[in-house]
Amino acid sequence: MNQHRIAVYPGSFDPITLGHLDIITRGLEIFERLIVAVANNDEKTPLFNIDERLELVRQTVGSNPRLEVDTFNGLLIDYIRRRKAHIILRGLRAVTDFEYEYQIAQTNHQLDKNTETLFLMTSLPYAFLSSSVVKEVASHGGNVDSFVPPPVQEALRKKFAARSDSRDNDIVRI
Ligand code: ADP
Repeated sequence: MNQHRIAVYPGSFDPITLGHLDIITRGLEIFERLIVAVANNDEKTPLFNIDERLELVRQTVGSNPRLEVDTFNGLLIDYIRRRKAHIILRGLRAVTDFEYEYQIAQTNHQLDKNTETLFLMTSLPYAFLSSSVVKEVASHGGNVDSFVPPPVQEALRKKFAARSDSRDNDIVRI
């Protein structure tokens, strides 16, 4: 298979949102194979651990022979090389994404001249949607059903219910 037909879509996916799903769906229209690569990054403290994030991505995307869900540690560029891919797919929302994405894309290209980062512009309904906004709203009991797929809605409800239970226990103990 032509190497340029394989793209890797990396991210934290903490958790996957409808904005991510939109990029995945559109990416599949362009590339023959798409690898969604969930970063297992020790420096960040995610709400969902790596197994939970992977499972939520898997449940959301369903099964598609052209789509793979995987995880990686360390440098993205090393993972890209291991997978023999040359394209990094990223999404761009507002202008605020640009500077960060530009820096990362330049760095990755510097590290490996064979690797190109391609960007898809967000679809308008998801232009202001991010995993952090979803977590913020859900943590205060807000409804996030129009932002995330059903498995994530359920997982967020459980996660924050468990958290408020443990807070209640703290209060009882005091
Ligand atoms: P990271 O920690 O690598 O930024 P994210 O999971 O936040 O991981 O995002 C992964 C990629 O998906 C990034 O390129 C980000 O810009 C893109 N993305 C996130 N939300 C949206 C959205 N609503 N529309 C389009 N792209 C998005």
